[in-house]
Amino acid sequence: MPDNIAIPITGQSPDHAFVPHRHPLHGVSPSRSVRSLYIHIPFCFHKCHYCDFYSIVDSRDRQNAFTDRLIAELAELAPFAGPLETVFVGGGTPTLLVPACWDRLIRAIDGFFDLSPIRRGRGEWTVECNPETAEPDLLVLLADAGVNRISIGAQSFQPRLLKVLERWHQPSSVAIAVERARRAGIERISLDLIFAICTQTLEELESDLDEALALEPSHMSCYALTYEPNTPLTRRVRMGQVSPVEESLEVAMYERVIERLAERGLDRYEVSNFARQGHECAHNLVYWRQEPWLCAGPSASGHVAGWRWKDIPHLGRYLASGDGLPPAIDVEEPDSARALGERLMTGLRLREGVPWCEVEDAARTIAPDLSAHLARVREKWIDQGCLQRAGDRVVPTPSGFLFADAIARDLLAVLC
Ligand code: SF4
Repeated sequence: MPDNIAIPITGQSPDHAFVPHRHPLHGVSPSRSVRSLYIHIPFCFHKCHYCDFYSIVDSRDRQNAFTDRLIAELAELAPFAGPLETVFVGGGTPTLLVPACWDRLIRAIDGFFDLSPIRRGRGEWTVECNPETAEPDLLVLLADAGVNRISIGAQSFQPRLLKVLERWHQPSSVAIAVERARRAGIERISLDLIFAICTQTLEELESDLDEALALEPSHMSCYALTYEPNTPLTRRVRMGQVSPVEESLEVAMYERVIERLAERGLDRYEVSNFARQGHECAHNLVYWRQEPWLCAGPSASGHVAGWRWKDIPHLGRYLASGDGLPPAIDVEEPDSARALGERLMTGLRLREGVPWCEVEDAARTIAPDLSAHLARVREKWIDQGCLQRAGDRVVPTPSGFLFADAIARDLLAVLC
């Protein structure tokens, strides 16, 4: 069965499930070196039934307070940042933030951070967009600020399947959003599609691919539907109201996605991500290559100097946390074995794979015989036709993309 995204960048935690910690950057010397920034806007106009990202239904009453708090957090992060090469504003629904708040946020980002790589066309600034909230004025504001990439959540073009997902947008709004983004001057368009939706047929998938490809996106993210704990959709499955599609159909759908997208020049560069050459998502590559990034906003995850954390995933507590760095949860100290495991886990989901000399160097610092154990696992998967050598790199074969999670599990078992 096709793997789904390996690292949850944001996630929803019930109130009682987290114990806040001091933000780890309090203990890190500012180095003006981090090149990537993720910002989480936690508002949606409705909660989709499959979604476990942290977001709340917006009544616009806290947008101003949230923007104030977010700007205060960005001010604290600025000393850690070098010239930014990637900015990604996700959510939630960033395009639900009213233009006045966006205007203040843009001025703050521009004032605190060096955006020269983005301004010179060498960097990427993405904003996630719900098709129903792609207002022309907002898109012009974003484009003028330097936003050069929009990621639009299409998910499906079938009203019936959008209803299964409880996703509130009209299929026709996707084309309108794409057209408005292009008219505003934002050329890099990514579309998100979900497949293997309960009761979906292969014909419906073909139709979704037809509709998406007709819009000529330069990037697509295509994920098989996953049933996250504590979502309404998962509860409906448990109650027998809906059933996941058969695994064989899911695999057939995934293979069809790969074929159809490749025919249009959108090649798979990560298990679930496809792009024209040069249009890969530079920000997500930072995650998958385990490079450092800063984060701001409730539930946003960061990775700096080997530390990992998540900003407190609760808007009320985020707003009440003063004006410095907010409390954090899921704080993990630097750990060489964990870092190597993460590098292998996400790197082998990429077409570019991982440079094995990097793996060997890291393994030597952990245990004398670790490199040999990892090489043994690598050889096993090469023998099975799931990994291959490409110069110094080890990369997944086409069947290796299907078994990315199993390969990662095998390698991680050696590291435990
Ligand atoms: S719009 Fe996106 S973030 Fe908001 S509930 Fe739906 S899937 Fe989740």
